[in-house]
Amino acid sequence: MSQERLTVVIAAKNEAASLPKLHPRIAAVLRRLDDIDGRVLYVDDGSTDDTWAQMQRIARNDPTVSLLRLSRNFGKELALTAGLDRVEHGAAMILDADGQDPPELIPQFVAQWREGHDDVHGTRIQRDGEGWLKRATAAAFYRVIGRLSKTPIPADTGDYRLLSPRALAALRQLRERHRFMKGLFGWVGFNQVSIPYRREARLAGSSNFGLWKLWNFALEGITSFSTAPLRVATYLGVLTALLAFAFAVWIVLKALFWGDPVAGWPSMMVVILFLGGVQLVALGLIGEYLGRLYDEVKQRPLYLVDVWQPDAAGVSLSGIHTGKVGHAHGKAVVGGEDA
Ligand code: UDP
Ligand code: MG
Repeated sequence: MSQERLTVVIAAKNEAASLPKLHPRIAAVLRRLDDIDGRVLYVDDGSTDDTWAQMQRIARNDPTVSLLRLSRNFGKELALTAGLDRVEHGAAMILDADGQDPPELIPQFVAQWREGHDDVHGTRIQRDGEGWLKRATAAAFYRVIGRLSKTPIPADTGDYRLLSPRALAALRQLRERHRFMKGLFGWVGFNQVSIPYRREARLAGSSNFGLWKLWNFALEGITSFSTAPLRVATYLGVLTALLAFAFAVWIVLKALFWGDPVAGWPSMMVVILFLGGVQLVALGLIGEYLGRLYDEVKQRPLYLVDVWQPDAAGVSLSGIHTGKVGHAHGKAVVGGEDA
């Protein structure tokens, strides 16, 4: 079989309304790419609606579809990791389940891959259906992380991308628990190229990422890819010490020249409260990193698999299907450690 394989990996949580609309579009695009062996892999990230039933219906009617169901909701980053871990041949294309990343652009990604690029990512030039607040905070986030992180992280770029086999293999070696995917893709490097596209509005439902979740996501990105905040504590300490020294000189001189009537309760309160605040902030910063360290040290698997259902195409084409786990209905299969 000389065709190159491309697996479209889709993480979905509660997307029962979108999937039936999205899959025919993907299937049509893959069918048109006739020199590509196109597959689709859906990951059910602990959905509580009909998503899994919809996925099974899709898989019954399309032999190129494989399904992975996690034991609970692990979040998009881990769901994607679980999916990418199951792509054993060829390249992978990551897509959102809600139709915001138009599958019709896949041929453009493939063309760039053919030209030798390893990481072809979509860059949003326009975001339909997203408010000014989300756009403004996103812009601020990319500016901050661009300043703080040594790893290049392209702005306005999400998970919509194609990874060549070697980029995929490299990504699989990064087994950290706190996974800021944009940063991990950037860390891998190789030949990167961006494809500008218009991010469409959701096909159905509403975003899983509210402002609070986005804020935590931003914290995740900054703490995963920069230790600069830790240095803030050092500089703040130095600055406070200098100010304290100047203040001490002033107090001594004042007492020498004008005597000391023991007043100064207001200034004392100000100093105590200020120092207390600064110390708490610094402790909190250290805590952010310490908590993440704790999570890494525990060495838990990244995710657990409930069901792995390989596509029928691989089985029927040859006897050497390579799915490591096979059907595992009802049984938890440890994933995430095999890379
Ligand atoms: N998603 C997921 N697990 C989660 C949350 C989201 O797999 O815990 C999927 C979701 O189904 C969608 C993608 O991640 O395919 C992006 O999520 P969403 O559209 O809510 O985010 P937004 O596009 O607003 O950033
Ligand atoms: Mg979305």
